Parts: sequence; C-alpha cells; structure tokens
Amino acid sequence: LEAQLRHAQKMEAIGRLTGGIAHDFNNILTVINGNSEAFLRRCSPDDPRRTEIEDIRHAGERAANLTQQLLAFTRQQVLAPECVDLSATITKVRAMLATLVGEDVELALDVPPHVAPVWADAGQLEQILFNLAANARDAMPGGGVLSIRTANVHLDACHPGRIVGVRPGEYVMLSVGDTGAGMDESVQAQIFEPYFTTKPVGKGTGLGLATVFGIVQQSGGQIDLTSSPGAGTTVSVYLPRAWSSTAALPCATPRTSPQQG
Ligand code: ADP
Repeated sequence: LEAQLRHAQKMEAIGRLTGGIAHDFNNILTVINGNSEAFLRRCSPDDPRRTEIEDIRHAGERAANLTQQLLAFTRQQVLAPECVDLSATITKVRAMLATLVGEDVELALDVPPHVAPVWADAGQLEQILFNLAANARDAMPGGGVLSIRTANVHLDACHPGRIVGVRPGEYVMLSVGDTGAGMDESVQAQIFEPYFTTKPVGKGTGLGLATVFGIVQQSGGQIDLTSSPGAGTTVSVYLPRAWSSTAALPCATPRTSPQQG
C-alpha cells in the first residue's frame, strides 16, 4: 500500500509539471507544424528546400505526438464518459490496429457482441488499446500473434491485480496478448512506473503503461499481467460494467450478459 501511495504521489507531481509544459508546448508546435505544412503545400516538388522543411514537419509531428501522450498522461484531456461497447469499439478500429502492428503480426480478435457496456471516455479506451497493441508490436519484431479479447468477468476479492483496493464485482475484461519477447520479473515490477522504458531513446517514452494504469485506476478498474521471457505477454484490463456501478448512469437499456467469463 505504501508503494502504491508513493507511486500515486509521484504520478501527481510529474503530472502537474509535465501537464503545464505539454500544454504550452503544444501551442508552440501548432505554429511550427502549421507553417511547415503551409510551406510544403505552396512550394514546388523540386524546390531544394523541401527536404529540410519535411524534416522540420516530421520532427514537429513527433513532438506533437509526444505532447499528446503527455497531456493524456496528465489527464488534461476533456473527458466525455459514455456507455461504451468495447467489442464494437475494437471492431471499429480493427483496420487501424492492423496498420499499427504491421504485416508480420497476425491479429486474432475474440470480441463477442454480448460483452456488457462500460462507462468510460471512448478516446481513453482507444488509447488503452493502442498503447497495449503498440507494446505488443514492439515485443514481436520478427512477427507473431496479437490476441485481443473481451469478456464479461467476475473479479473476486483475491484477484491478483496491480491496483490495490479494487472492489469485487462484475467487470469487462480487455486482454491484449502477444507471442513476443516477454519480460523478466525485474522489468515486470517497473513497467507501470512513469518514464520506465527499455526501448531506445526516441522510440520509448515510458508513458504508455503509466497512462493505461492511470486511466484504469481512475475508472475503478484493475490490471494484471502475465509474462514469460521468450514466450510472450498478456496484459488484462478490467473495467467496471456501466450498469453495475454505484453511480446513477444515463445508459438506456443495459444489455444483459448471458454468459460469464
Ligand atoms: P514504452 O513503450 O514507451 O517503453 P510503456 O510504459 O508502454 O513505455 O512500457 C514500458 C516498458 O515495459 C517497455 O519499454 C517494455 O520494456 C515493457 N513492456 C511493455 N509491454 C510489453 C510487452 N507486451 N512485451 C514485452 N515488454 C513490454
């Protein structure tokens, strides 16, 4: 519990600091990116300055991606929670996922339609999905299988998750599994720490899983992880079902879930 508290305090301090910087930086980047775009639109294809400006735009885009991640991490995004059907969300972004992971990774989806709705910001759910999928891709440089699964599950009090104090009850599980490099125990112990990364500079920010952790914790959910070096990793996220939450929710007619597990 003490470790969790320390983690939360650290996240909060980093969040305040980076959120402010990211916000101002984003405004500056709008100018850089907007002007380089405008220049490229106007200049002729054989203009010798083109490659230099393209480099500026490319770097600007990378910087913008990073500030987006930072803003998401510090939760300065505008949230619009609604009843979200996770299976439908995944089906909707299937093509984007395939592009993200590339041709060498096979996408195996098991996302049945009877999965209960969750009460969440759809953008944040996609962020969870894309962060986990990007990690899975990075763990499988030589190709492999990315499995994405949704299911209605019951969590009991002794579920071995990473977030302390999660209530037993009915959840929707989103699990993202890969057949990649896996992690040893010392890496597993640190992966939810902000800025922890084993990836080369410029590739990893170490904010992907800290962001996932933050979103899931904020929504009262749970995360667990199984990983073995050389065999692969599965990260499972559990989000409270919309209609089983204690809050009064404006969901229309909640779908019943005929199956458990
Ligand atoms: P980043 O991807 O920028 O490094 P993350 O917070 O998403 O940041 O991940 C932190 C670290 O956790 C990664 O650098 C990697 O070492 C490890 N990791 C995360 N997901 C996986 C995975 N699916 N397989 C192997 N290692 C992983």
